[in-house]
This record gives sequence, structure tokens and C-alpha cells, in this order.
Amino acid sequence: MNFGESDAERGLRAEVREVLRTPPVRGALDELARAMAAGEREPDVRPLYRAIAAHRLFAASWPEEYGGRGVSHLEAAAVIEELVRGGMPDMLQVLSVQIVGLFLLEAGSPAQKARYLPALASGEMFATVLYTEPEVGSDLASLRATAVRDGEGYRLSGTKVFGLKSGMSDIGLCAVRTGTGTTKYEGISLFLVDLHADGVTRGNIASLADEQYDRVELDGVWVGADTLLGAEGEGWSLLTRCLAIERTGLDYSLKAARWYDATLSGLTAGTADDALLEEAGRYGAAVDAARLLAWNSISQLGRGPLDPTSAAIAKYHTSETAQQVAYWAALVHGHGYGLRGLAPGKAAVLEAGYREGPGLTLSAGTSEMMLELVASSFDRPDVIGGAGDGSRV
Ligand SMILES: Cc1cc2nc3c(=O)[nH]c(=O)nc-3n(C[C@H](O)[C@H](O)[C@H](O)COP(=O)(O)OP(=O)(O)OC[C@H]3O[C@@H](n4cnc5c(N)ncnc54)[C@H](O)[C@@H]3O)c2cc1C
Repeated sequence: MNFGESDAERGLRAEVREVLRTPPVRGALDELARAMAAGEREPDVRPLYRAIAAHRLFAASWPEEYGGRGVSHLEAAAVIEELVRGGMPDMLQVLSVQIVGLFLLEAGSPAQKARYLPALASGEMFATVLYTEPEVGSDLASLRATAVRDGEGYRLSGTKVFGLKSGMSDIGLCAVRTGTGTTKYEGISLFLVDLHADGVTRGNIASLADEQYDRVELDGVWVGADTLLGAEGEGWSLLTRCLAIERTGLDYSLKAARWYDATLSGLTAGTADDALLEEAGRYGAAVDAARLLAWNSISQLGRGPLDPTSAAIAKYHTSETAQQVAYWAALVHGHGYGLRGLAPGKAAVLEAGYREGPGLTLSAGTSEMMLELVASSFDRPDVIGGAGDGSRV
């Protein structure tokens, strides 16, 4: 792929910078900054998202009929990169648009796309992901939440944990068991659950990071049959496709770049010795590689299902890099060189990054699981070092 920037990307970046200066967006950014300075744990980002969505920049790669602009996935990634640079917190956008929305675009029925996508693109509706359960994380196929047939729909029961942003979300992409089969991978189904429905209880689980984890109890929640994605009991293959979409690494690479830039901003010629410069060079290269890996997996979107191995490589490198940069920043500014030269805003960014660091190599699949995915592809003929001649990568 060509890693250079196209005219279209440059044009979109310039447009985003303009949009960030418009009064509604500027006002929403200022309000967020005020809430954060006042110590609010999870300030409401939805007004900011809606102000950005008014310019059709929130889900830019989606077709126009669904509220996007039909630009390429790489161009849409440039939009997000520029928005994040401008101060937009991206977690709820990642969940709603980059994960659930993109998956619906790939795997939803025409009716599901028409019902949910325009609302997600405009910021009228937000979505979260409900997979993990108490005692069920990496081994997701062992999930225990159930859905049983009831009239024209299903009743869902079970407990989902460690999701993010469920309190601000309207629907949850939820994995449950609708039956059993000869293997644990059979009998899993995916539903879009209305989080305002009777029987849904949402609560927080304390977290070291600024983003709180959520616990969602489903107590006989009724959902229509039209909220089932794909065929009943055949959700596992869809789930693995959706997990690959979660692992492009864009969000992790943006965090890595943000923390790296904040770290460098506090160094001056007088404080940076040779050893520190060497580290800065090494982490800088890792951050660049993270961006290229993320860009590479994003370039595959829209060309059929994302290759799970490429996605696992991107997720592994980008999340490990972001975590290492967060810890390095603490060593540089916390111990070695002190906070000299580091603006208070940047110090707060790095402090929050240090607390977020441990979760990065767990979320969207742990680093161990990513390595297992990569290792299990070694017998594939299309992978370098695999069973074939490795000529196709
Ligand atoms: C920031 C963050 C955001 C999250 N967001 C969501 C969300 O939106 N929705 C959602 O449903 N969940 C979410 N999660 C949960 C996340 O998916 C799980 O934490 C993750 O899948 C790991 O599961 P677990 O915590 O149960 O750990 P476990 O699966 O119990 O793993 C514990 C340790 O054992 C290792 N391990 C497990 N199995 C193996 C194996 N076979 N081989 C080698 N090592 C192994 C793991 O790598 C890990 O180090 C989030 C988690 C975090 C930290």
C-alpha cells in the first residue's frame, strides 16, 4: 500500500480543522475541558459528537444513505486522527461507529442497516459491545448468557461485564447462547439489545483508568427477532469477524502518538542526554510502526472480511507500544527528568495514560491471545514462514 497522504486526505484534514473551530464544536470541546478540569470521571461526550456529526464527519466512510460521505476507510481514519488531535475523546465513537456500526454495515440485514446506521452516524444513538462475562473473557465461546424463543422474539438473560460506555449507549451488541452443539462454538447468537428495555440494569465497575467499566444485567429482556444478526446459533463466525474489526489498532496507535508527543513536549535540549535521545528514537520508531500497521489493516476494510491474523498483529503491536510509551513517559517525567518543561495539560494526559496502560493489552483480546492467533496461522500457506512458500502476504 501507499503510505503517503492523498489530496483527498489532506483536504479532509483541513476541513476537520475548520470544523473544530466552528462555535458549536468549539463550545462542546470547551465544556468537556471544563468538566475534566472539575474532576468529572466520565464527562458526556455526546454533545460534541453530535456537533461533529452535523458535518457528516462522524462516520465518514459509510455510504451517504446511512449518514456518511462514502469516503475510503483510510480517509475516514485521517478524519478521526485529526479529530482526536483536536481534542475529541474517541472511545464512544470507536465503539459506536468503528466497531458496532462497521460490523452492521458488513453483516447487518438491509432493514437493520436502515434502522440503526443513520442514527449511529448522526449521534442520535450510541452503541456498545457486550461480550465479556464474569469468568468468561479470553475463552469467549464459553459464554453463559442465554436467549430463549418467546413469541416473535427472544428473552435474554445473563450478566455482561467490563464493557465500556454502556451508560451512554442505547444499544448493545450482545453475544449469547441460543443452543448447544457438538462444539462450544455452535449455538452462539448475536443480538442488538435495546439498553433502555425492561429488565436491563446498568452499573459501573471501579477502574484505575478514567473510563469506567460497566456491568450490564439482562433479566429476561425481550428483543424482537429482527434484532438477531445472521442466523440463529451461527454467531461465532460473525463474532470473529467483528473481533477483527475491533483490532485494526487505530485507537491504540493514536494513544501511542498522543503520549509520545506529550512526553517529547516536556523535553528541552538541556534535559535530553544521549541515553534519553536513544530511547526517544526507539519509541518514536515503534509509534510510527504502530501507525503504519493500523493504516495497513484499515486499508483492508471494505475489501471483504478483515484477515484475523493481520488484525491480531496490528492489535498486538499498537497496544503494546501504547502501553510501553505510557510507562516510559512516567519514567522520563515522573522519575528521571521531573516535570520540568511539561505543561500541566500534558502532565494530566500522561498521568491518565499511565493509569490506562494496563488495560490496553487486555481489551479487544489480550496480547497472549493475539500471539496465539498469529502462531496458529503459521500452518497457513499464505503467511510468511507458513506451510507454503510465503510469497503471498
Ligand atoms: C479497557 C478495557 C475495555 C474493555 N472493553 C470491553 C467491552 O467493551 N466489551 C466487552 O465485552 N469486554 C470488554 N473488555 C473485557 C476484555 O475483553 C477482557 O478483559 C479480555 O477478553 C480478557 O478477559 P479476562 O479479563 O476475563 O481475562 P482472562 O481471559 O481470564 O485472562 C487472564 C490472563 O490469562 C491469559 N490467558 C487466558 N487464556 C490464555 C491462553 N489460552 N493462553 C495464554 N494465556 C491466556 C490472558 O492473556 C490474561 O493475561 C474490556 C477490557 C478492558 C481492559
